[in-house]
Amino acid sequence: MSSMQFSDEFDFENRITDVNEIPSDTAEGDNPLRPQNLDEYIGQEKAKENLRVYIEAAKLRRETLDHVLLYGPPGLGKTTLAGIIANELGVKIRITSGPAIEKPGDLAALLTNLNEGDVLFIDEIHRLSRSVEEVLYPSMEDFAIDIITGKGQMAASYHLPLPRFTLVGATTRAGQLTAPLRDRFGVLLRLELYTPEELAKIVSRSAGILGIEIDWEGAIEIASRSRGTPRIANRMLKRVRDFAQVMSDGVITLETARTALDRLEIDELGLDRNDRRMLEAIIRFYNGGPVGLETLAAAIGEEAVTIEDVYEPYLLQIGFLSRTPRGRCITAEACRHLGYNMPKGTVAGAVTQPNLFGD
Ligand code: ADP
Repeated sequence: MSSMQFSDEFDFENRITDVNEIPSDTAEGDNPLRPQNLDEYIGQEKAKENLRVYIEAAKLRRETLDHVLLYGPPGLGKTTLAGIIANELGVKIRITSGPAIEKPGDLAALLTNLNEGDVLFIDEIHRLSRSVEEVLYPSMEDFAIDIITGKGQMAASYHLPLPRFTLVGATTRAGQLTAPLRDRFGVLLRLELYTPEELAKIVSRSAGILGIEIDWEGAIEIASRSRGTPRIANRMLKRVRDFAQVMSDGVITLETARTALDRLEIDELGLDRNDRRMLEAIIRFYNGGPVGLETLAAAIGEEAVTIEDVYEPYLLQIGFLSRTPRGRCITAEACRHLGYNMPKGTVAGAVTQPNLFGD
């Protein structure tokens, strides 16, 4: 079968398990589901406790907080945590992203508009251009920038002091950060995929905010199909609510959650049609692997970065996929789950964490 035929069957639009934000996630307005302070932020205990100490210490010393780098797969709460850092410090936050800062002048405009102590949040910070990074280094270190105006003999350089600020950078790919940028962060926090219990607490909290009735078993069922990701859990909650309204007087129970998610073709491990197709492609076309990332991407008509950032973290975490120097391999667990016999390339399921620093 040609790879193109296979890719036609993919449905990357409207994917309920998409870890990236889609418009309906914020349909209720300014995302009322986002926790506003550390106490409301569920899970990530290690990162949270460290942050609590750093924030307290900075407040006691009346200093700005060191620059913070948050890294981990999408949808785990990096933007939320940046907002919480600003709230806990009692300062304002400016939100932007790597690709949005096109020229050094764009960054200079952002920096000069900050107030003393403010948080500047740069999402996808690994996508900053080199020329912008060059301006960012001195501003992080010395809280000043050098601006050059004019050309040739008319050129003039100004040294512009900046207010002291805290940069919070977020990235799904810490390994792609240049070493000089990475070294300028005083605090590095890695966000982990959430446990089903943590996600069930998040689902129950969100249900309370949205006025949805849900029992604990229903919350656990949604949580265990959410691939460790709060953004997906909240989205599933909203979709299951529709089924509950029709099936069980609006109350989400184990039964309603199960029926709704089955209908949405999300299996009990949270895999959707696209995950299953990707895994099946490795089994059927590549004999279980190893298959190189680019080859696999071409076969399923998806970008290699999307496979790495969106599909793989969870599949690696549950031991369905394994990364070897020669490429991706399917595991025996994945074959069992999908109902396939083990092909030649299958490796024993090893639970491996994605190594986001690539070292
Ligand atoms: P990221 O920036 O890592 O992609 P977000 O901060 O946008 O992720 O989080 C996605 C959504 O998940 C948020 O809107 C928020 O409602 C929810 N969320 C994330 N982390 C938590 C948490 N620890 N507790 C409760 N809700 C959370």
